[in-house]
Amino acid sequence: MLIEQVFSQIFLEQNVKLYVSRNDLVHPFIQGNKWYKLMPNLAQARLEQKNTLVTFGGAFSNHIFATASAGKEFGFQTIGIIRGEKTLPLNPVLAHAQNCGMKLVYISRSEYRNKKNEDFLEKLKQNFGDIYLVPEGGANELGMKGCMQMVSELADYQYVCCACGTGTMLAGIRAKLPENIKIIGFSALKGNFLEQEITNKLAHINQDKKFTISYDYHFGGYAKKTIILEHFIEQFYTAHHIPLEPIYTGKMMFGIVDLIKKGFFAAESKILAIHSGGIKPLYNF
Ligand SMILES: *Cc1c(COP(=O)(O)O)cnc(C)c1O
Repeated sequence: MLIEQVFSQIFLEQNVKLYVSRNDLVHPFIQGNKWYKLMPNLAQARLEQKNTLVTFGGAFSNHIFATASAGKEFGFQTIGIIRGEKTLPLNPVLAHAQNCGMKLVYISRSEYRNKKNEDFLEKLKQNFGDIYLVPEGGANELGMKGCMQMVSELADYQYVCCACGTGTMLAGIRAKLPENIKIIGFSALKGNFLEQEITNKLAHINQDKKFTISYDYHFGGYAKKTIILEHFIEQFYTAHHIPLEPIYTGKMMFGIVDLIKKGFFAAESKILAIHSGGIKPLYNF
């Protein structure tokens, strides 16, 4: 994976080095961490001889975008169960998904809450036939294992940072890296359920390594943003030519830079930020 060092006066003053792992470049459409989560799931679907992938997401979901793209590229039918009502014209995410051949099925927000419920999933199988179910965000064990490929265990860093939605990527990275490397996750969502979820995911594969979650940089919650965050993303692109988006990676990078300014990281530290992707057509620079 391409790793770029990012230079800034602030980092010099604080005596730390910041590197960005460009996992966003892994594929133009099956973007960032969604590639790593989907690949083992697609392999499993093939093994089970299933030709149709069914998954879930909101109307702006990176995961829906990536799954539709993967279906087209690797020859699977795809069905996206979308939270909320259909609105026309389709937004760029859903338009792309439909162009890739994904069948979009809209369900109400209350129904959508059943997405992990056994009866509900059983009903989906009856409706759509012999399907391979990928959970929302690709957040299953295969997805976590796929995310282990995002970093090398030979990484020579004191800190590795990533954005968190479900925490699946962080769990994979934590599982992969030795305990002496500190892992910090930046939650894109309000609420503090992540530690427990990640601890459970790690316990599943017999791991209990430590990690830290910051809830200080969600900017009001999932998909919420402020002018300050938008300015930061613009400035970061101008200075470093690395595109960030306001849902996940912008918040993470804002958090990292803020913590560097505050002297959070030990002097002489090397910090690796994982660039987990973002939807290109929506945030075209
Ligand atoms: C989906 C996504 C995440 C969240 O990953 P989790 O494994 O759910 O924590 C982070 N960054 C980007 C760019 C994403 O698309």
